[in-house]
Amino acid sequence: MSTPTRSISPDDPRLTEQIIEAESPIESPQALRLLAHSLTAKARAHEDCEAFVYMYRCANDHVWPVALTCHQRFCPKCGERIARKLVRKYDAIDVGAEPFLYIEISRYGKLSPEFAEEFGKFIGAGFKHLERYAAADAQLGTLWNTIVPARNRLTARLILWGDGIRAYTRYVEAWAGAYVKVSVRPAHQFHESLHHLFEWKLPKDAKFRADCEFYFHGRRMVHTMGTLHLHKETPLESTTSDEAVEELFPPTPDTGNNSNALTGHHCPHCQSPAIAMSQRLKSASYRHPQHGFNWWDDYPHR
Ligand SMILES: [Zn+2]
Ligand SMILES: [Zn+2]
Repeated sequence: MSTPTRSISPDDPRLTEQIIEAESPIESPQALRLLAHSLTAKARAHEDCEAFVYMYRCANDHVWPVALTCHQRFCPKCGERIARKLVRKYDAIDVGAEPFLYIEISRYGKLSPEFAEEFGKFIGAGFKHLERYAAADAQLGTLWNTIVPARNRLTARLILWGDGIRAYTRYVEAWAGAYVKVSVRPAHQFHESLHHLFEWKLPKDAKFRADCEFYFHGRRMVHTMGTLHLHKETPLESTTSDEAVEELFPPTPDTGNNSNALTGHHCPHCQSPAIAMSQRLKSASYRHPQHGFNWWDDYPHR
């Protein structure tokens, strides 16, 4: 690899260009619909998603743009990023050498915040049921994610480990009244299954995506329950208690607001700590035609 050259100077006039203080009107269909649900901060954040960047600089004088993003699960720009992050995070789970189960549970109904809440409880209660009727020495654990595959359906995708019984009727009973699909997968497919768990196609309709954001506003879609062992290289301890599981994976505060943390960034090239060196800038001239904002060393110098 050639030595990357930083081709934007810290004195580049673009870095001090006049900031337009007045906020642009909210006009994208998804943001307007969020506004209609009284999710004002989310609407603003969604409208501004990737519209602005901060320039960051590390101690070694590398400079790169970091786009402001809205962190919303139903944002077409952020959804994939969030999924990738979740895959990396939960890859720390060690499901052991035995096959695990990949389960899909769907329920039909009119989508609403109440349905979303009730569905989460339903999935949790089903897992508790399995635990209750498991073999005495079983160490059952699960990780699940809720998705919205249609306007009248919620689906939970679960990875379930430690259950030696593996009888289909057992899962149908645990989630009685729901559509349950179960497959047995070898342990080495865990990573691949994490991708299946978290990566799914968002609805095409922007208004519907905003509705989904509303149904799940302030609600977790990803849960872990039961026995959780983590790979040795992770500095965290294994645990068997429910509360501790939550501590191991504390929920990242899901504000849905793009209050970009100006600290805590690391240089994508040399990993040294970085600081913001600019005001909020319009993103247009910082987006690479192929790499989006994920680039830094072939900065088009103009
Ligand atoms: Zn976004
Ligand atoms: Zn650097």
